[in-house]
Amino acid sequence: MAKRDDRPMEFNFARRGGGRLLSNDLSMTTELSAAELSRFARGAALPPALRKGLEEKGFFSGRLDFARLLPRHFAALLADWKGPRVHIVAVTADCDHACLYCGASSGSGGSHMTRATAKKTLNFIFSTGAPELVIEFQGGEPLRNFGVVQYMIGEAKRLAARGGQSLHFSMVSNLAGLTAEKLAYLAANKVTLCTSLDGPAAIHDSGRKYSGGSSHAAAVRGIALVQKLAAAGELEPLNAICTVTKYSLSQPKAIVDEFLKRGIKRVQLGPLEPIGRAARAGLAVTPEEFLAFYAEALEYMLRLNRRGVAVYEKGALMFLKQMVGGERPRYQNLDLLYRLAYGPDGSVYGSDEARLLAAGGNEFFRLGSVEDSFCRLASSPLGRTLILSCFPRLTQPRCARCPHSAWCRVSPVYNHAAQGGFWGDMMTNGRCRVFMGVSDLLLAKLKEPAARKMLEGWAEGYQ
Ligand code: SF4
Repeated sequence: MAKRDDRPMEFNFARRGGGRLLSNDLSMTTELSAAELSRFARGAALPPALRKGLEEKGFFSGRLDFARLLPRHFAALLADWKGPRVHIVAVTADCDHACLYCGASSGSGGSHMTRATAKKTLNFIFSTGAPELVIEFQGGEPLRNFGVVQYMIGEAKRLAARGGQSLHFSMVSNLAGLTAEKLAYLAANKVTLCTSLDGPAAIHDSGRKYSGGSSHAAAVRGIALVQKLAAAGELEPLNAICTVTKYSLSQPKAIVDEFLKRGIKRVQLGPLEPIGRAARAGLAVTPEEFLAFYAEALEYMLRLNRRGVAVYEKGALMFLKQMVGGERPRYQNLDLLYRLAYGPDGSVYGSDEARLLAAGGNEFFRLGSVEDSFCRLASSPLGRTLILSCFPRLTQPRCARCPHSAWCRVSPVYNHAAQGGFWGDMMTNGRCRVFMGVSDLLLAKLKEPAARKMLEGWAEGYQ
């Protein structure tokens, strides 16, 4: 019979290659061979180094270092929560593009947020309680309602000076309407910019339709303006996102090269999600297609790293921060708890995906309006259910037994859009397959010494 101290804590496990991946309630993970797992589960003797490693990660119920492990446990349960940090404000539904897979279903002639609604939105944001606030301007194309962006920045600074919150601004823009004057204003107010870059012109322009000509040419011109200021230290480096569609699948290297050609070393690759116009575009890729594309892109980035070229993938970085850095999961993405989104009319949503779904006509996830109180919206039936959904290990049958749940996030909006229900079915869920596939790929790469060195460098060197 197992000694009392050697009994295992409750853990999840799954077969991975020849081994077994384990995780526990402290979001700690480890890999064992089948024979090691058998001995561990029975409480049989283990080699000292293995036993020590498992003990340090809290896998023995009688050998828990409470002083060291409890803060992590409470952090996993969001005990230090103080309010939603990220606030995504769609200042307009108007856009100079009509991309085939626009999540916001935007196009020419969409409505702008008014100053009166912008003021109420800011009052709502500052009433939510978070000591650090990130306000991200989106659309439509936010540069097309720049007066309201300027108004919100000035007013938010005034409110933060009064309330003591720290404040950071960002903007997601296609950059086609970026002028030197607008950029100078954004730089003076330290607004971080993010754009879409789907690859070289042939790929980018296939899906992104711009009334002024080539979307790629417009983006490249804007990127060059931003990067010039960034090189002079007047602005943070630009972020860019590649939406992976059928057009991208055969071109992972060309896409990575395009980022590097534009001076962007942070590559972000995400599959097209079935929200907004994208749901009808017929350009979505399957999880298996995305994972094959992603594996090739990752391998190429690691090869470039070995040749001394600095480049990394943002999604992988988030996993690696937890896998090798032991950092807590990325709570910034949790619906309602860590982020909120606002429509041009002052509607409030628990996530940007929910806002995008509503822009396409489906208001299922609309929480209310900025004229309501945050407490009332968060305690509404939808608000409480969104909060529950932030804990998949406690609320999703498959996640409750899944070792990947330590670093995973389930999106009710994706579930609703792709599977027709709030909770979805993780056995057939495309996002789940992508999360599992990417984390399995990274765990496999971490076993290769040369790749591990590079990936550890990502976790240590980038934010
Ligand atoms: S969504 Fe999928 S990969 Fe993530 S924890 Fe749940 S079952 Fe695991």
